Amino acid sequence: RSTAEKFEFQAEVSRLMDIIINSLYSNKDIFLRELISNASDALDKIRFLSLTDKEILGEGDNTKLEIQIKLDKEKKILSIRDRGIGMTKEDLIKNLGTIAKSGTSAFVEKMQTSGDLNLIGQFGVGFYSVYLVADYVEVISKHNDDKQYVWESKADGAFAISEDTWNEQLGRGTEVRLHLREEAGEYAEESKLKELVKKYSEFINFPINLWASKEVDVEVPADDDESNDEEETSESSSFEEDKEDEEKEEDEEGEKKPKTKKVKETTYEWELLNDVKAIWLRNPREVTDEEYTKFYHSLAKDFSDEKPLAWSHFTAEGDVEFKAVLFVPPKAPHDLYESYYNANKSNLKLYVRRVFISDEFDELLPKYLNFLMGLVDSDTLPLNVSREMLQQHSSLKTIKKKLIRKALDMIRRIAEEDPDESNDNGKKDDDESSDIDEKKGQYAKFWNEFGKSIKLGIIEDATNRNRLAKLLRFESTKSGGKLTSLDQYISRMKSGQKDIFYITGTNKEQLEKSPFLERLTKKNYEVIFFTDPVDEYLMQYLMDYEDKKFQNVSKEGLKLGKDSKDKELKESFKELTKWWKGALANENVDDVKISNRLADTPCVVVTSKYGWSANMERIMQSQTL
Ligand code: ADP
Ligand code: MG
Repeated sequence: RSTAEKFEFQAEVSRLMDIIINSLYSNKDIFLRELISNASDALDKIRFLSLTDKEILGEGDNTKLEIQIKLDKEKKILSIRDRGIGMTKEDLIKNLGTIAKSGTSAFVEKMQTSGDLNLIGQFGVGFYSVYLVADYVEVISKHNDDKQYVWESKADGAFAISEDTWNEQLGRGTEVRLHLREEAGEYAEESKLKELVKKYSEFINFPINLWASKEVDVEVPADDDESNDEEETSESSSFEEDKEDEEKEEDEEGEKKPKTKKVKETTYEWELLNDVKAIWLRNPREVTDEEYTKFYHSLAKDFSDEKPLAWSHFTAEGDVEFKAVLFVPPKAPHDLYESYYNANKSNLKLYVRRVFISDEFDELLPKYLNFLMGLVDSDTLPLNVSREMLQQHSSLKTIKKKLIRKALDMIRRIAEEDPDESNDNGKKDDDESSDIDEKKGQYAKFWNEFGKSIKLGIIEDATNRNRLAKLLRFESTKSGGKLTSLDQYISRMKSGQKDIFYITGTNKEQLEKSPFLERLTKKNYEVIFFTDPVDEYLMQYLMDYEDKKFQNVSKEGLKLGKDSKDKELKESFKELTKWWKGALANENVDDVKISNRLADTPCVVVTSKYGWSANMERIMQSQTL
């Protein structure tokens, strides 16, 4: 079109589109759920705005918050339309091409290594998946603040925008029109679309309607001449209204009363494809594991086959009422610890009385629990206030407190149900139900993905420190290469042992050789290995557990059981230690003492009780470089 304005895609977006177009990825289905998910987001936005401004919805069909799917089988055009917020001309330019999101390059990079396009939605670039099945796409959009525009692109590095003077006026919302590629013919089948909506978009909270064909029996005159054949060939394509006209004409023409016969005829009507009853409103006892798993997949935009590690679905009653579903994902998202302290990355969606409010609500969970997925729907929070007002609402504190408690319980349960976690391994050998098999090794998996979050929690959340410490796992001199817990450590403590011993360093192999362990191992004390840089910080906050103090064995103050020879030794080497201290006075050495921690090594350098450990110094140095 001559009036169209041309734009170039931002470079990363262009690369992404190239990858998609040339992809041999077989699961092209994913485009539909991405489009439906965008439609649903747009509907959520307009519904949210309408809470404080009723006018915004307009009238008539515009108030119907729904998604419509239509198919032109002949021309192979598939359209997905919503009555959501729509996009202004500027939105179209920015959102669909010129502004690359942070996820764009991350996704492009990921595609070059693993190539799993299924993850596209998680990176915030789901829209472009349309080019898996289409070679030409039009996005027609009408926002309340602007005229109707058409965005179009053949994915050749450029797109065009024109004011829409030729299509039907949408009123408000967006229609995405896919001109299907030759080889994507299967998506021009209603049955395929129905199957996909069932499979991927079950949990969309707006009605999804398909303009579906239906075979109906109609009575038509049965004469023996050729006109009959004509009628039969035309039936599959025409709409009912046309048909009725034809029939009437013939009726009038017929001299004799014609006999009638039944033929099949195609009519079209909207068919609702989903059940919009929200899963979280249902009784948890009536929701199956499979439904929770599917719900998780749709929330997380994670369509792998992996099950969430755990979930918790509950209703809170009392002053503050809400329902919530929380999930522990099977894997940490790619950017979990990226800019941990600045980013707003809660994965919890907030609803108030079934209306989606926001998925950027920091106030619901502390940062260290950002890896959880889920939603909260509260009846106590007010509906008709701005997001800012809501953020300050006093109920949020109560909700947060309960969510943390439930989340930590849920994580504890992963450990409790994991047969690998129990002390009496092998005891339940005869009880090998599939359920137990499924839970086996789940906590180690959790720890591997999210252990760091638990450690950050211990640092940040003083109130729940003890609960979090229970979730801590580590290896030790006695864990035999497996993970163990503080409770297990305590159960193995020697009689008379007061402290929990640990040592920090870069890796277990190095620590095992440390002279600091000599005497302790000889005397059969267990020592925890902390090898993660965050462990040093962790141990500055975790002072004790179940009335036992933590003792870094490379630091001053290590007390093993009393030895009668200690005093004697100290006395007889008094002169030597005194001389040595004097000799090292200019070397930053505070003291020289007789040690009871060594067995074979003659001497060792120990850090003071309140100073940094040698490992901490190493970490700090590597950070300031
Ligand atoms: P995401 O949905 O994760 O933001 P997408 O690539 O799917 O990423 O969509 C990009 C952006 O395009 C969306 O954030 C939204 O602003 C806009 N958009 C896409 N589809 C629609 C729609 N149906 N209605 C309104 N805006 C849309
Ligand atoms: Mg999207």
